Amino acid sequence: MNLSCKYKAVDELNKRINKCTVCRLSLTRKHVLTGEGDINARLMMIALSPGEKEDSENRMFIGPSGQILNKLFDKAKMLRESVYITNLIKCMLPKNRRPKTDEINACSPFLEEEIAVIDPEIIVPLGFYATRSVLMKYHADLPSARSEFTSLYGRLIFSDDQKIFPLPHPASLLYHPSFESKTEEKYIKLNIFLHDCKWFPVCPMKWYYEKGRLDKKWIEKYCRGDWESCVRFKMEEERRFHHDWMLPDGSIDNSLKPV
Ligand code: SF4
Repeated sequence: MNLSCKYKAVDELNKRINKCTVCRLSLTRKHVLTGEGDINARLMMIALSPGEKEDSENRMFIGPSGQILNKLFDKAKMLRESVYITNLIKCMLPKNRRPKTDEINACSPFLEEEIAVIDPEIIVPLGFYATRSVLMKYHADLPSARSEFTSLYGRLIFSDDQKIFPLPHPASLLYHPSFESKTEEKYIKLNIFLHDCKWFPVCPMKWYYEKGRLDKKWIEKYCRGDWESCVRFKMEEERRFHHDWMLPDGSIDNSLKPV
């Protein structure tokens, strides 16, 4: 979709979102919040819903969690405007209560449309509800308990041809400030997703992939994703010898070995 079609599609979608009265949250909101940021961004962040300040001033992430999000972007040396940010639920949840299943179901079609129009390279759901919805949409494995979702934060997942990078919601630091440095480490990773691995043009993995001998997931998860975690990348940087048939996770695939 070209840029002007994209602007039109986002505008048309936002007009419909602004008029929505499908669920009870329309009765208690002041504003409906639609997405903000670069509609051509590689990264699309999805939070849960607007807070009180966001609802009254009709701006995304301007309350206490927004202050934390800004700091996390600073740490990652990224501009907030360089990503597209939206919510799973477009209207405020009264008194910050948990969302009900029917409210998530009522609002999800808007998010689906938004994802289709923005077409991000990587979806970054923030916190439990957004992460669960995005993983379900792309048929990724779901942890069996809510407490286990934290183990997914900061890990790049590739499912149904979509890259997903769940992160803790910035609001979690309001309640658990001791998690600050661990959360920062995860957000700093966002920066590396802005470009592919510098070794990709000459990497044997690219060659094997183009010859149809390597599964796409290796390229998407490492070369065009979290290349900083690639064992080959680290060894290249340290000028250490490694076989051409060593995979990005450091395992050896002898089927790639020349005969
Ligand atoms: S396999 Fe590793 S070193 Fe090679 S391009 Fe991919 S991320 Fe970079």
